Amino acid sequence: MPTRLRPFVTALLLLLTAAFSFDTVPVDWAMVAKIREEGLQRSRVMDFESYMTDVLGARLTMSRDMQRGQAWLQAEMTRIGLVNVAVEPYMDYGVTWDNEYVALHLLEPDYTPMVGYPIAYTPGTDGRKVAQAVVVDLQVREDLERYRGTLRGKAVLVTPPAAIDLAALASGAPRRTVAELRALEETVIAPARPAPPRTVRRTDLLTAAEKSAFYKAEGVAVVLQCESGWIGAVRGYGRPGAREDGWSRAGMLASPAVVAVTPEHYNRMVRILGRGIPVSIEIEVRNRIGDRVERAANIVGEIPGTDLADEVVMLGGHFDTWHASPNASDNTSGVAVALEAMRILKAVGARPRRTIRVALWSGEEQGLFGSRAYVREHFGNPLDSAVGAKPGYEKLSAYFNQDYGAGQFRGIYLQGNESARALLTAWMEPFRDFGMTVVSNQSVGSTDHVAFDEVGLPGFQFLQDRIPGTGGHTNLDFYDTIQAEDLMKNAVVMASYVWHAASADARMPRKTRR
Ligand SMILES: [Zn+2]
Repeated sequence: MPTRLRPFVTALLLLLTAAFSFDTVPVDWAMVAKIREEGLQRSRVMDFESYMTDVLGARLTMSRDMQRGQAWLQAEMTRIGLVNVAVEPYMDYGVTWDNEYVALHLLEPDYTPMVGYPIAYTPGTDGRKVAQAVVVDLQVREDLERYRGTLRGKAVLVTPPAAIDLAALASGAPRRTVAELRALEETVIAPARPAPPRTVRRTDLLTAAEKSAFYKAEGVAVVLQCESGWIGAVRGYGRPGAREDGWSRAGMLASPAVVAVTPEHYNRMVRILGRGIPVSIEIEVRNRIGDRVERAANIVGEIPGTDLADEVVMLGGHFDTWHASPNASDNTSGVAVALEAMRILKAVGARPRRTIRVALWSGEEQGLFGSRAYVREHFGNPLDSAVGAKPGYEKLSAYFNQDYGAGQFRGIYLQGNESARALLTAWMEPFRDFGMTVVSNQSVGSTDHVAFDEVGLPGFQFLQDRIPGTGGHTNLDFYDTIQAEDLMKNAVVMASYVWHAASADARMPRKTRR
């Protein structure tokens, strides 16, 4: 090339590059600047986080706690300035269940207060009980005869001692490494899965329901268990079978009292009993169980759109939690981020083309009940001929979710939607300084964007740093381990993504289907 032409060609190439990276997917830098200033200099995200974790506390889907929480949530959304704030009941969920009191002590051979929490949807102990502890190993039908008539008034330890998980001791707030991010960024083509080996289920194995019925019939004082080696933590969820019996009062009362104990306290009792030395405990659990089936609900609110107001961009996360802590990370942090993103957009005077709607779900922890019911009701499902697509199906652009703990966004999962790659990549550009750089082609699950994705709607979950020690689904998930900067940045990114989706010329492209 003649030397005198070089500057011209270089300029042309630069122009072409610019055309591809910016003109094809515009980034609204002026709005990004406003969002960043509001969200990084006048953030309220930790105020939301603190109110929900410190004042509201745990919010099990069908509980008095949750009803109190949802009343606050509606009021707060109205205070932020959202419109069409609404409670959307979606199903008869069951009776309410709330833990009101628990006290657990080792009396003999050495006094120690112990840490335990009742499993959700179980009854209390009917007063304070002193009980001898015994290890019970109930596996198959013939085991029943070995224990029949021996367990009345006993505290039965029904799980093997927990293997302590030392990895949970990792300290600090580590970020994903460059190598990890690079691996997430690389396109992965999942290999075809080999056919699973044939499994033969022994017909004489006892089910969880059968074991529970046996303990109840035998009149145990309490069932003690430990299903996690997480140091210092109680991991306890709901009673097996609760979902199947529709969280019914009868189902709850048919269960024995069940308490999950920290691995240290549980293993200690097992070791003492292994020496042939008696263990006695004192326990009292009071659980309040409702007497009528009530409807579970999601809470929604909007910033109305302008010229494309009938089209919708959604964001959100699940407001419900498990019951043993406020679950500051899972998913109070996601709710705080969604609320703060909406507050930022209101504060900067955003007037989006499409309506921006925040949805804070319930029933997620028991199986995505709230988000799935919402999607079925508002958008339908063209992949299921019994449901079909509703008119709203074509009006939704995209849904953005936070629910993988309280770590900072480092990218976003495409969820297999290659047509969305250009947009999601371009909208990330203003946040390189946050360390948000990765568009991963991976599909991820276990939370509410799945409800959208599984019916063919664009639903996205952000790729986050994983902060150890913040115990999701445990008694240890409090405000103190939440990193303020992480949530501030997440709210800014969330606000910017929904703003760009709401302002784009076209709705978010969808996955191609055959
Ligand atoms: Zn969650």
